[in-house]
Amino acid sequence: NQISVQPSQLRLGKFLVMNRRERTFTAIKPDAVHRGLVGEIISIFERKGYKLVGLKLVLPDRKLAENHYSELRDKPFFPDLVDFISSGPVVAMCWEGKDVVRTARKLLGATNPLESEPGTIRGRYGIDIGRNVVHSSDAVTTAEREIQLWFTEHELVDWDPAVARWVYE
Ligand code: ADP
Repeated sequence: NQISVQPSQLRLGKFLVMNRRERTFTAIKPDAVHRGLVGEIISIFERKGYKLVGLKLVLPDRKLAENHYSELRDKPFFPDLVDFISSGPVVAMCWEGKDVVRTARKLLGATNPLESEPGTIRGRYGIDIGRNVVHSSDAVTTAEREIQLWFTEHELVDWDPAVARWVYE
């Protein structure tokens, strides 16, 4: 009956359940802040049942934008991407819950809004790939790196939502 905790998994006997404490980094990009979509996007994650553990409005400098997208540094669109992300306010968020990294990507929809399903955030609010409204980490390891990049430890709040037992069985 040993319980061992891995980054995103919890093993209970023979059962492997996704860890409720998995975290992801999600950002509302400057286009969406300008368009007044902040409340709408936060609501989608809240209503889904995820727990907000970090939230702030940031004007990212180029260094932060370059660091955040460092894996794309060789792409032709990299300079425009960095210009755009550092051009205005970004809402930086950390969301916590079962399988949140993968589920957040589903809520966002495909990178190119022309290919995103209509019910997704990008499908509902975006048209161009370079103005695709939101970001969310693409893997648990990426999430760990991005959370550390955007937040300090004391900016992340550990709390127990009163409704947790109505979200999880
Ligand atoms: P995602 O944001 O879905 O994880 P990527 O990490 O591949 O996608 O790309 C990061 C961001 O760079 C995208 O959200 C998008 O805004 C921009 N981007 C990706 N591909 C292109 C492209 N071909 N042209 C312009 N911008 C792009």
